[in-house]
Amino acid sequence: MSLYVILMGVQGAGKGLQARLIEDHFGIPQVSTGDLFRAMRARTDDLARKVQDIMASGQLVDDDTTNAIVVDRLAQADAQNGVILDGYPRNQVQAAFLETHLSEKDARVNAVLLLELDLYTAFKRAFGRVTDANGGSYNCYYNANGVDFSWLQDESERFPPRLAASLRGSHTPLKRRPDDASADAIIQRIDTFLETTQPLISHFEASGSVLKINADQSIDAVWSDIRLALERL
Ligand code: AMP
Repeated sequence: MSLYVILMGVQGAGKGLQARLIEDHFGIPQVSTGDLFRAMRARTDDLARKVQDIMASGQLVDDDTTNAIVVDRLAQADAQNGVILDGYPRNQVQAAFLETHLSEKDARVNAVLLLELDLYTAFKRAFGRVTDANGGSYNCYYNANGVDFSWLQDESERFPPRLAASLRGSHTPLKRRPDDASADAIIQRIDTFLETTQPLISHFEASGSVLKINADQSIDAVWSDIRLALERL
């Protein structure tokens, strides 16, 4: 049986990590439209250039281009038993297109996994996150063991203080993702998520495929809930 899963959740809900666990356990690849578009950076044709311009402006790529890229990815050999979709569909036109496309393959969206997280926690998970050179992750609100956090004042006082972090003892500076460093940008992404996702959830609730998962738990507990929910299908 094929397994087509749509993964939804606000930034900070742990989608990337859980997608990798689903991938390993169920043997279906993660398909992220953001990643597919980013991979086009290496190309110089007109379509790739157009996509890069749209992404740089922070807009969404048009539906026809997005749908075509997904169809192309779903036709590849490793996707024949299904995929985990991340970042797609982003609106109801894409959702309807996907459903029609899958029905032509005698398949369907088996589950829409909604990783639920309250927005204040989502903000803190993103804003407080720092990483070391080996990919180790810390958070000034949740996991500050062995890390010194401080606020660096802006000398010109034109910007808010900046969160800085270093490993205790060695004073090795820890990095923040540039898109996590701005409170404004995080709030903007949360707003966009709310605007785009709510109508989609209503769309998929009509077919009974939405599975709500509490993402405010340990990584293992979230994974265990996801695994059980998918195995029950
Ligand atoms: P993401 O990594 O999912 O945040 O996507 C990065 C960028 O890729 C977005 O800002 C859009 O420009 C584009 N993109 C990704 N997925 C979609 C989609 N489903 N529809 C339209 N544009 C998308």
